Amino acid sequence: MEMILILTVLLFTLGAIIGSFLAVCAYRIPMGKYEPIHEGVKELNRTLSIVSPSRSFCPQCEKTLLWWHNIPIFSWIVLRGRCAHCGANIPFRYMFIELLTGIVCVLTFLRFGPSLTGLVAFAFIAIFIVITFIDLDYMIIPDVITYPATFVGLLIGLVSRPLRPFLDRPFVASPMESVMGLLMGPGLLIAVWWLYFKIRKREGLGLGDVKLLAVCGATFGLECAWFTIFIGSVLGSIIGISLLLCRRNALSSYIPFGPYLAVAAVAYILGAPSIFEHYLNPSTPTTWWIATYS
Ligand SMILES: [Zn+2]
Repeated sequence: MEMILILTVLLFTLGAIIGSFLAVCAYRIPMGKYEPIHEGVKELNRTLSIVSPSRSFCPQCEKTLLWWHNIPIFSWIVLRGRCAHCGANIPFRYMFIELLTGIVCVLTFLRFGPSLTGLVAFAFIAIFIVITFIDLDYMIIPDVITYPATFVGLLIGLVSRPLRPFLDRPFVASPMESVMGLLMGPGLLIAVWWLYFKIRKREGLGLGDVKLLAVCGATFGLECAWFTIFIGSVLGSIIGISLLLCRRNALSSYIPFGPYLAVAAVAYILGAPSIFEHYLNPSTPTTWWIATYS
């Protein structure tokens, strides 16, 4: 029991550190290349890369942070969400992304144990986290993320047979499955696009959403693409309708579709379908948690 507790704390910390890097990626990848859709993003007149500058800086005063300002979660709490140099607000989302990635890191380990499958699954979850926060700010899912991710998905399909015991489900099990997922996943989304257009009389999806689905299809197969569209649409509808009922129409039109798809895809990777199957038919065992707790 003690062992599990120590392991959980270690995994959470590791996840939070990676989350801190993901927050930097979500901030720097689109900066200077696209127009943000809300005022929360301060535009800098320069293009940043993930590695340059190598040290994090405050977006307001552009001063480099001290080493301990980079400690995830802890520094945000100690500084009470303010820059140590100029006192500007540090958006809560930095701490949120660190917290989220920490939790997801623990969940991924619980689901897959210490395995290559778990490691690669976590890498893809990290990609979905970055996509979510870029899409929230810019309403864009950059090709610079989706194209390489789709390529890696196809590559996983190609090497799936020789790597089988090490790289297991939820990843595709054959090159054919990967190609089918790539072609048919986005196809389904185009149908959803049409339905949305009919109901809301405006476009609710962009090409970026279709490319996100291509990543899901190529890497995790058609079932994942289908699950992601369905659950993503349900989530989007529930939250969209709730916001409409609260008369916050402006906010509902501001939330892009990508984050819903990303949440659904992460739920798929972490084994959500088995929870549904278990719920619909209690005699089917759920694979959730069982990998590590039995
Ligand atoms: Zn500052």
